[in-house]
Amino acid sequence: MTHLLHRSIHTPPRHAVSAQGLHFTDSEGRQYIDASGGAAVSCLGHAHPDVIAALHAQLDRLAYAHTGFFTTDVAEELADTLIADAPAGLSHVYLVSGGSEAVEAALKMARQYFTETGQPQRRHIIARRQSYHGNTLGALAAGGNEWRRAQFKPLLMEAHHIAPCFAYREQWEGETDADYAARAAGELEAKILELGVDTVAAFVAEPVVGATAGAVPAVGDYYKRIRAICDKYGVLLILDEVMCGMGRTGSLYACEQDGISPDLLTIAKGLGGGYQPIGATLLSEKIYQAFAQGSGFFQHGHTYMGHPMAAAAGLAVQKVIKQDNLLANVQAMGVELRQQLQAAFGQHAHVGDIRGRGLFQAIELVEDRQTKAPFDPARKLHARIKSEAMARGLMVYPMGGTIDGVRGDHVLLAPPFIVTPSDVAEITGRLSEAVNAAL
Ligand code: PLP
Repeated sequence: MTHLLHRSIHTPPRHAVSAQGLHFTDSEGRQYIDASGGAAVSCLGHAHPDVIAALHAQLDRLAYAHTGFFTTDVAEELADTLIADAPAGLSHVYLVSGGSEAVEAALKMARQYFTETGQPQRRHIIARRQSYHGNTLGALAAGGNEWRRAQFKPLLMEAHHIAPCFAYREQWEGETDADYAARAAGELEAKILELGVDTVAAFVAEPVVGATAGAVPAVGDYYKRIRAICDKYGVLLILDEVMCGMGRTGSLYACEQDGISPDLLTIAKGLGGGYQPIGATLLSEKIYQAFAQGSGFFQHGHTYMGHPMAAAAGLAVQKVIKQDNLLANVQAMGVELRQQLQAAFGQHAHVGDIRGRGLFQAIELVEDRQTKAPFDPARKLHARIKSEAMARGLMVYPMGGTIDGVRGDHVLLAPPFIVTPSDVAEITGRLSEAVNAAL
């Protein structure tokens, strides 16, 4: 009997008692390799001494200060650190407690930008069907995951959805990457024209789609086209890097690899590496100036925003990533992981696609490789893979079901940035056994 409401009431989770580096230990003494960083969170692995020391020092100094009264050195330093390496044009940071809060803040910033600049008719939010932006009502409304949205629809604000750029599922036979990128990005322009050119506030997308589709990067110059369309119609571009940001794909921000800068950028997960709950919304100088020269404040706020302990965790994690040159390891181990996945699943009868960037890789399971037909969702293949993996001491992040009729089950891997080639071999070996046992 538990008084804690778990995610799944009928299959309560195992009890974790400790974790060190890549490994969890449960209450029965079993060990698990954390090959998904939880949900792409634990980028440094567990119990990193530098982060623990920074948290102890911060706790001794100052655990909490409400931002209505004080700022703190640690929050200021984290903002400076993030902006120093941020995509061009981003100038300020709004610190919150997680990814959904960061997305909520970005949506509100977009709306307030237009009320401050005399365009109150701009209210529409456009997003993509294969997307997840969080579970709070605004973020859920923006997201395209029908399963998560269905029963809450009566509570959700209006949002509009276009197709994602998802080559495996939506690129036509014989279509070049350039043509597909143009066709997929063209959906945004068409939607803006349909809604009315001066009524759209923002377009929001994940540069590499995470939980809803499994490590799906865009092809060709898709994002350059998206940026150009947003500029053409004065629409703000929000990039949600809650899962794919902070080094996960091999560059600090995933959009660096797409060669663009957004107007608003959300991060969380790897920002604090799981050592504290933290998220952030980065905003451009243009938006900041609209607030500064307009009402003088952003009409939003949470009790725990800019929390000193969370900021200390974020700062310590970012210092370790730099000091240990971990982005280079993400790049090298990303190649290693892709090669090992290719070796293990490249010829597999039920693996249709292997994709991703850096240490953010996924395999997609299909009933039939030729037709790409997904497995019947009733089989709950993703859940079986998760439990077969756990039985083999492996934590991975499988998701499943069919959304929009175009997606099969996938397994997402997002191991900590400290993995070695032998860890990668252990992960792919155990995953291969788990997938075959689940099929
Ligand atoms: N945005 C993206 C892209 C995510 O992957 C997630 C979480 O998985 C969120 C937002 C929501 O973040 P959180 O669960 O921290 O609220």
